[in-house]
Amino acid sequence: MKITRRNFIGTGSALAVGTTLATLSNRSIAKVKSVTKHQITKDRFDPWIELIPESMRYNVRILHGLAAKRPIMVVVKNNGYGLGQDNIAKILGNMPEVAGFAAVKTEACLSLHESAVSKPVLHMGMATDQDFYDLAANNIQLSIYGNKIRWVLDSISKKLGRSIAVHQYIDTGMSRMGIPYQKALPWMMDIAESEYIDVIGSFMGFTEDEEYDREQLRRFTELNNLANAKGINMGKLHAASSHAIYHFTDAALDMVRPGIAIYGAYPANPDTEKPLGELKVTYRLKARIVRVEQLRVGDTVSYGRNYTAEKPTWIATLPIGHSDGYPRNAVKGVKVFVGNKLYPVIGAVSASHSILEIGEEPTVKIGDVVTLVGPDHEEIHPNYISKVAGISVYDILMHLSSKLPKIII
Ligand SMILES: *Cc1c(COP(=O)(O)O)cnc(C)c1O
Repeated sequence: MKITRRNFIGTGSALAVGTTLATLSNRSIAKVKSVTKHQITKDRFDPWIELIPESMRYNVRILHGLAAKRPIMVVVKNNGYGLGQDNIAKILGNMPEVAGFAAVKTEACLSLHESAVSKPVLHMGMATDQDFYDLAANNIQLSIYGNKIRWVLDSISKKLGRSIAVHQYIDTGMSRMGIPYQKALPWMMDIAESEYIDVIGSFMGFTEDEEYDREQLRRFTELNNLANAKGINMGKLHAASSHAIYHFTDAALDMVRPGIAIYGAYPANPDTEKPLGELKVTYRLKARIVRVEQLRVGDTVSYGRNYTAEKPTWIATLPIGHSDGYPRNAVKGVKVFVGNKLYPVIGAVSASHSILEIGEEPTVKIGDVVTLVGPDHEEIHPNYISKVAGISVYDILMHLSSKLPKIII
């Protein structure tokens, strides 16, 4: 078969019928690039994410109730836990319970700011002087620690002609970010001397070791008392992420900073957390079946041949794999939802494909929509999948490829 430009574009199988990449001259590659812009449609085979805005807003209200009605700073790091930070900002931005949005990386904060978010944005990472300038120039609140920062911010403030709003990042035992609490008082006194810096908050993160969390909070509040005694105001205090909202209600302070729970996953243990405040899963990870075949006795499935048919068995292929963020460990017993039934993932999750065991009857067909994660059945809940696969529930969300299209339903 002669590969023309037209049939190369039109048939996914063109490469399989004898063409090698070498036969694609640079010229034809350049032409392939010039195809008209592809439209994302709802009848696609390739995977997509459906967002359920009402469930996300529901979770915010639940968490607000658990956190003694404190304002919520919605954490949207890592592209909104895989669900798209701009979508989340749009869905939650107008809620009275929501005080703002927080992310870690500079570009994430800048793009959040551009996406018409009317609420404050907090940057929770380190940045170069230039990045701090760009963040401050866009009214993004900065997190600060370290000795150099006062002079950096003084000079940025002079350039902008206004003071810079910051949150002081205090390390009370996490040993990850922030100024160690035992060094914080003289440092805060130095910051307080600057007329260019406006301390609007101070925050810390818990280790989520329930006993040690109490010690961490004690260190934080004691620091605040010492600061107050010196006439220093630490601004709004905040510490609690999803885990502390559930397990350490004394830590609500002036504001809370949940991430994962807003998206509908329990931070540690659904058995103890669900009775305190039930969350709704806020998204569905979906794809359509691309192949249905029957295995003969003895046929095996995918890389490593982990699965062998012991009787004639129908299988189906999904065009989603670990490069999309679907866990490789799904083959350890994870199921997906098709129609009204659950089917196990078998063989291996490869980069772009996963395979399902359908059974003795071909009860699915090409084009059927499959929900891999979602609220529709207990066994496709993110926490259930994480338990069966033996991975963190954070990975179920955070590893979702940023390239997956999102549809707000
Ligand atoms: C990720 C993060 C949060 C939110 O954590 P969840 O466990 O997802 O609720 C809060 N604060 C900081 C500093 C974070 O990095």
